[in-house]
Amino acid sequence: MAPVEVKYTQIFINNDFVNSVSGKTFPTLNPATSKKTCDVQEGDKADADKAVRAAQDAFKLGSAWRRMDATGRARLLNKLADLIERDREYLVNLETMDNGMTVMNATGSVMGCAKFLRYGAGYADKLHGKVVPLDGDYFCYSRYEPIGVVAAIIPWNFPCLLTGAKLSCALTVGNTLVIKPAEQSPLTALYIASLAKEAGFPPGVINVVPGYGPTAGAALTGSMDVDMVTFTGSTEVGRIIQRAGADSNLKKIHLELGGKSPNVVFADCDLDYAVEMSHWGVFLNSGQVCCAGTRTFVQEDIYDEFVRKSKERAEKRVVGDPYDVKTEGGPQIDQDQLDKILELIESGKKEGAKLMCGGQRKGDCGYFVESTVFSDVTDDMRIAKEEIFGPVQQILKFKTIEEVVERANATTYGLAGAVFTRDIDKALTVANTIRAGLIWVNNYGLFSPMIPFGGYKMSGVGREGGEDGFKEYCEVKTVVIKVPQKNS
Ligand code: NAD
Repeated sequence: MAPVEVKYTQIFINNDFVNSVSGKTFPTLNPATSKKTCDVQEGDKADADKAVRAAQDAFKLGSAWRRMDATGRARLLNKLADLIERDREYLVNLETMDNGMTVMNATGSVMGCAKFLRYGAGYADKLHGKVVPLDGDYFCYSRYEPIGVVAAIIPWNFPCLLTGAKLSCALTVGNTLVIKPAEQSPLTALYIASLAKEAGFPPGVINVVPGYGPTAGAALTGSMDVDMVTFTGSTEVGRIIQRAGADSNLKKIHLELGGKSPNVVFADCDLDYAVEMSHWGVFLNSGQVCCAGTRTFVQEDIYDEFVRKSKERAEKRVVGDPYDVKTEGGPQIDQDQLDKILELIESGKKEGAKLMCGGQRKGDCGYFVESTVFSDVTDDMRIAKEEIFGPVQQILKFKTIEEVVERANATTYGLAGAVFTRDIDKALTVANTIRAGLIWVNNYGLFSPMIPFGGYKMSGVGREGGEDGFKEYCEVKTVVIKVPQKNS
């Protein structure tokens, strides 16, 4: 595994790679070295508008895409998954180079992308409407229809996986798509676009416009011709996107946002297992995971032992070259994230949390941070309230189940949570009372196309994954037909 040659750096519209209208480009860096990988064509409003027109044309009544059977869409999705699997080694190397994630994580991201597409392929011909037993002399049915042109705005933390999630949800049910990848990591989405063409998707069904959020992204979210925006990213930008929808055509807005998820560890758990799971719950992908368990609540009887073991585990975590298969943690994505994480670590020290290990930048090449563990963390500290998005574990102490549920819910977020215990009553009480979209019992971080994923409160609006995920990308139409006489 090693850096690879970049094949596609242009904007993808109507199955063609083209330069930006302005002629501008932007650099993408390798986070492990902080050096430039290549320049990418920079999409702006003119390019976003072109891509939206292409997606509108592909969605016109009578078009190849609109006339295609659901089984035809399924075949294309499966074919694209086949091509991703064929080129997985290249894609894994590209994802690692562009994002800095370890090759192990990149393998999960690339194979997760293919898995999302296959899950969609399996569902495409199973989206049934209903016959409604309406009162009166009527025959009534409902059907799910695609919404139209969907703009998908993607963050940098799992570029390939999240591109796959949005492709699968939008295309399975028959929409067309304009993807705006994150400016930090646009390369795998462009390569997947080339595979979509090879798979045989009609022109305009999938378009990819790399560029910056306030320009290319805002042109899509503010467009009168985009019917839905699906956004994964920060709560702050989610709010801007809601506003852009309201200020334009009131398009449907689906938001997958940030989190500060509670992980509740009771004294009766399997301690070593809970320490290991809680470690991965925070440190996976260098902490750059929206559903990371960044508030680890540990019951007082085992608190000291849990802290000691968590420190030992974090000190053993291998951070370094993301291409080495032994590496557990790569760099952060960029200088801004590095600065933000170090500033939050400083705030933790100043506010009285006990730094057990780490706390510094690691080396001076690339954007690495030492594996950091804080104990004696209290709910009012910034590190217990703000999303850090870095390799920093906060361990808080609790006494009773009532207390921990109340404290776990005392947040503006509600994306995920977990509970570790051998007592089924405690497990179910916590699982059913934490206000979050996904709860893990005696595991942390299992993610699959088969499960609905999304947030309560300021962690999001709507769901992606599972049957609910496909329905999120549909309109429901009801047809009421007068009949001469209805009989039971
Ligand atoms: P971000 O919000 O800064 O950027 C995400 C995307 O939005 C990028 O493509 C960016 O270019 C675009 N964008 C920025 N400003 C925009 C604007 N004004 N209009 C339109 N688009 C704009 O997020 P990020 O830093 O890339 O990712 C990290 C965040 O994503 C974290 O908060 C994390 O929790 C969240 N996240 C959530 C999930 C989830 O499923 N809930 C998954 C992964 C990441």
